[in-house]
Amino acid sequence: MNFKGKVVLITGAGSGIGRKTAIMFAERGAKVAVNDISEEKGKETVEIIKNNGGEAIFILGDVSSPKDAERIIKEVVENFGKIDILVNNAGIVVYGKVEDTSEEDFDKTMLVNVKGPFFLSKYAVLEMKKQGGGVIVNVSSEVALKAIPERCVYSMSKGALISLTKSMAIDYARENIRVNAVCPGTTFTQGLAERLKKLPNADEVLKQMSERRPIGRLGKEEEIAFAILFAACDEAGYMTGSIISIDGGFTA
Ligand code: ADP
Repeated sequence: MNFKGKVVLITGAGSGIGRKTAIMFAERGAKVAVNDISEEKGKETVEIIKNNGGEAIFILGDVSSPKDAERIIKEVVENFGKIDILVNNAGIVVYGKVEDTSEEDFDKTMLVNVKGPFFLSKYAVLEMKKQGGGVIVNVSSEVALKAIPERCVYSMSKGALISLTKSMAIDYARENIRVNAVCPGTTFTQGLAERLKKLPNADEVLKQMSERRPIGRLGKEEEIAFAILFAACDEAGYMTGSIISIDGGFTA
């Protein structure tokens, strides 16, 4: 997969899957716009890319604000002249059943995980239409496809992202804009490693998490990023409205 000359925006690229995706796009020649709500984390991703000889800029912004979404897309175009690929990766997780969930947690989750991708997609599509095409990849989750305990709002928000993916895929298919979703299973990110470190029985917890999966292990960041790159590459030109599971067989 070659992304030479392509301009890619990745939201929430200051850590985990988003950072890895940004690095892998840059390694394959893309100009990468790294968005995050954390300046420190986002700039660190840019530094990693530049130290590898890649091209990247940082764009601070909160995806849950449509005003920020509009400005983020504008800054990508001002800096790089266009936007070819949008990866809606920024997201948050809240835990709990319906009865445990506060209105605040509900609103926060829907704002970041649903309203964010919606308005970023809106402003990206306005540019992509002018350019004659583009690709959007939404990072959903395995829990959009298969319920697991105590993730009700998170599952809902990621399910909404699948509906948005399908709606946009058919609305823009004739405008050469492809829209796909990737549904990662539990992935061994740096964030998870840090959360595990705080537990007295980290090894046991990791073992249990791994054994729940048919493949017997968690995903690697690069395995998720690779699917995002594939959904975005020109060779996948016939693929739109697709929901791609990368979960070690969990939803199977
Ligand atoms: P994962 O481990 O699944 O890759 P992370 O929690 O490590 O997820 O990454 C999510 C990234 O998204 C973080 O860097 C976080 O700062 C960023 N993020 C969270 N909320 C927002 C937001 N509202 N706008 C932009 N970025 C956000």
